[in-house]
Amino acid sequence: MAKSTRRAFLTVSAAAAAAPLIAGEAMAGTVPRGDLTAILREIDPKRIEAIVRKLVSFGTRHTLSSQDDPVRGIGAARDWIFAELQRYAATSGGRMSVELQSFVQPVSPRVPVPTTITNVIATLTGSMTPERIYVVTGHYDSRVTDVMDAVKDAPGADDDASGVAVALELARVLATRRPEATIVFAAVAGEEQGLYGSDHMAQVYKDRGADIQAMFSCDIVGTGRAHDGTPADPRSVRLFVEGVPTSETAAQASVRKSVGGENDGPSRQLGRFVDDVASNARTGMDVRVIWRRDRYLRGSDHISFLLRGYPAARFTEPRENFAHEHQDVRVEDGVQYGDLIEFCDFAYIARVARVNAAALWSLAQAPGTPRGVVIDTTQLTNATTLRWQLGTEPDLAGYEVVWRETTAPGWQHSRAVGKVSEVTIDLSKDNVFFGVRAVDADGHRSPAAAPGPSS
Ligand SMILES: [Zn+2]
Repeated sequence: MAKSTRRAFLTVSAAAAAAPLIAGEAMAGTVPRGDLTAILREIDPKRIEAIVRKLVSFGTRHTLSSQDDPVRGIGAARDWIFAELQRYAATSGGRMSVELQSFVQPVSPRVPVPTTITNVIATLTGSMTPERIYVVTGHYDSRVTDVMDAVKDAPGADDDASGVAVALELARVLATRRPEATIVFAAVAGEEQGLYGSDHMAQVYKDRGADIQAMFSCDIVGTGRAHDGTPADPRSVRLFVEGVPTSETAAQASVRKSVGGENDGPSRQLGRFVDDVASNARTGMDVRVIWRRDRYLRGSDHISFLLRGYPAARFTEPRENFAHEHQDVRVEDGVQYGDLIEFCDFAYIARVARVNAAALWSLAQAPGTPRGVVIDTTQLTNATTLRWQLGTEPDLAGYEVVWRETTAPGWQHSRAVGKVSEVTIDLSKDNVFFGVRAVDADGHRSPAAAPGPSS
């Protein structure tokens, strides 16, 4: 479908489907929870430029480079990121904590000797439902043409100092705010060697039984410029979201083959939510949702979270220049190769940060995604009975049932059904796809959850 057609469709459906989903200003006692408009305004392209410049200054951030040289290599980058996040945390009134999460990666195809890999993680604890977590990451390791070369300059400005700059700038701006749920800002390592840092991080969360309801990998978000004669697209960012869950079980696959649902996995619902809250004049961006897990031949840290059953997605720029990614810095036939800072557009990275801020803040201020949503399938009927677990958020106001034609990409209709855990709708479950979303007292809506069959 052409882009213009897609937007037009959303505009039409918005009238039927949606009260605005954006998180607005709200007061909790005397402490302002923060206003999304002010948050978006505070995101500063100059701060982002300073972060990218600093990361590039370490020469290489290859995972196998020096861990203890104070000026060159991944260890120097790790220490700088840690100090920077601690500086932000100092403004948080004790709500943000920063940790170095280290582990030893055993020998593997791209790791010739056991190697310490360290993720730098800032956690801003939620004020209302701290156990509910939203994560944003960039990877701070970099590479050149030979993925085993830890010596040559690997500036990694776009891949992925840009994504780290998004995570850090959001940590700085949100540190002074009070989100209802917990938000995690992380710079992970080992990505280029095999997603090792994020794999460890996701497994630690999984082992702890952490309730991660969304994760975003910002990876190669440095520019909307095109370098190949095609038009620039500086107001667009791609969001890759899988359909059939990577973690799908055989039993789930059997249900899907029987009644559909390829387009209704948790990550797809997250994609719909992000487009709703972050494609607008306030972010200055159009989120171009792409219905696949990632690009051909490529992957990113969201896959580590998808493998553990967490909803996750990957942001990336609209049109990559492969001469600037994973390349030795050199000039060949008059063409400059290498991931150099001069190819980054800091205003663009700031807009990507605003998209992430709108998504994370709207998620954290809304109730959690409804759990245990089922469609009653105990008998044949042309009506639809939906059931779910009542959420426990103190500001939970109720639920909305949403639905769409089976051939429609996004939700077309919604109906407020009150603070209940069961409702019967006079529409056939065979003819449309349903979802249930939670709404709080301020009108913040959660992502929708698609029902599974009750039997
Ligand atoms: Zn990358």
